[in-house]
Amino acid sequence: MKYYSTNNQSPIVNFKEATIKGQAPDKGLYFPETIPQVEKKLIAGIADFSNEEIAFKVIKPYVGNTIADEKLFQIVSETISFHIPLVRVNDRISSLELFHGPTLAFKDIGARFMSRCLAHFVKEGASIPLRTTKVTVLVATSGDTGGAVANGFYGVEGVEVIILYPSGKVSPVQEKQLTTLGKNIKALEVEGTFDDCQQMVKQAFTDNDINDKIFLTSANSINVARWLPQQFYYFLAYKQWADKLNPPVISVPSGNFGNICAGILAMRSGLPVHHFIAACNANDIVTEYLHTQVLKPKQAVATLSNAMDVGNPSNFVRILEIFHHQFPELKSKLSSYSITDAETTATIKEVYQKDNYVLDPHGAVGYLSLQRYLENHPEQKGIILETAHPVKFPDAVENAVGKHIEIPSSVQFIMAKEKQSVLIKADYQQFKEYLLK
Ligand SMILES: *Cc1c(COP(=O)(O)O)cnc(C)c1O
Repeated sequence: MKYYSTNNQSPIVNFKEATIKGQAPDKGLYFPETIPQVEKKLIAGIADFSNEEIAFKVIKPYVGNTIADEKLFQIVSETISFHIPLVRVNDRISSLELFHGPTLAFKDIGARFMSRCLAHFVKEGASIPLRTTKVTVLVATSGDTGGAVANGFYGVEGVEVIILYPSGKVSPVQEKQLTTLGKNIKALEVEGTFDDCQQMVKQAFTDNDINDKIFLTSANSINVARWLPQQFYYFLAYKQWADKLNPPVISVPSGNFGNICAGILAMRSGLPVHHFIAACNANDIVTEYLHTQVLKPKQAVATLSNAMDVGNPSNFVRILEIFHHQFPELKSKLSSYSITDAETTATIKEVYQKDNYVLDPHGAVGYLSLQRYLENHPEQKGIILETAHPVKFPDAVENAVGKHIEIPSSVQFIMAKEKQSVLIKADYQQFKEYLLK
């Protein structure tokens, strides 16, 4: 498989080069030249395949021969080595729980896959420029990415990770997950918003002073090795979906739109999905786009579902690419709703009281969006992606359900550890000095 840049001004690359580079030199996003089709028998007989076999078959065409089959099978097996259950919430809605990984969010899957691929490529040594033996992963996080990436790369030889996060805008569990590991993981606490963090990271990638000295790559969802493995759990959802003749509507809580874009890619590869819902909070750029056909980035506003507080979703361009920029086709497969914080809280409360199921704020945005769609489509049923464990957002959730949410024992030990971070202003020069020192 070869990848081109969505800006069309960069050379074609293979999976290895795309993974190492992260973003294309022309600032576009790498996109596969063709969308591979999964074998018909994988869909028709999906229950007969193990999760590992499914993941391997889905990702193999994208990786091509850049990783040997045996190694790739090992990587996908480690990537999905935790439960990804489809849980019934009520008659019409099920929840795909993506929060049983080490940092309790779906980003574990992309981060674990990417870190293992990158570690493999660094070990091979070849074709990393600057004759350096070290790769620096730069990542901006609105909350969950940082922890998942830190965890995925922790202790990986030859890779240093620098995480930028907005001060005071991530939850206590999230902050601990990205500031307490130490070793090759460094956290920069930025006095600004997620968009400021993302902006600084983007600027560093195009800064020659930095790129002459440090080999930078990105672990944000623009990296193909983080984006593509997110297809796995859409297939695993279908494996567990009882009514195979009536494929689900899938509602995806969306911020940077990497997750939903992977789902749409899976559908284009042959996975049966009736319709996709981009579930958004007050950051409604895509909801607006589907009404107006105009994509107008805005300043991000802070909400209860803070991992989706994104004012300029980087991956949306890939969705446009999948649909060849044909608006009517896109609109026939994708709807979007924008949910307020008040509605988010009311939804957490209602679903807890009615169905005894505790949603996190992101899942609640997904739930209400799906419910709105289903109201007008009485013959359909659907799935929400529950993208994070409720305990990552204790204030919002405990307030709504009126009870304490236990921190899973797998995370408890981290709360006692000491935060280690460097506080910086949302100022590119200050960030640059830190990188170069
Ligand atoms: C990152 C994140 C999202 C948004 O995912 P995108 O791929 O950026 O659209 C949603 N929910 C949670 C909990 C997240 O961490």
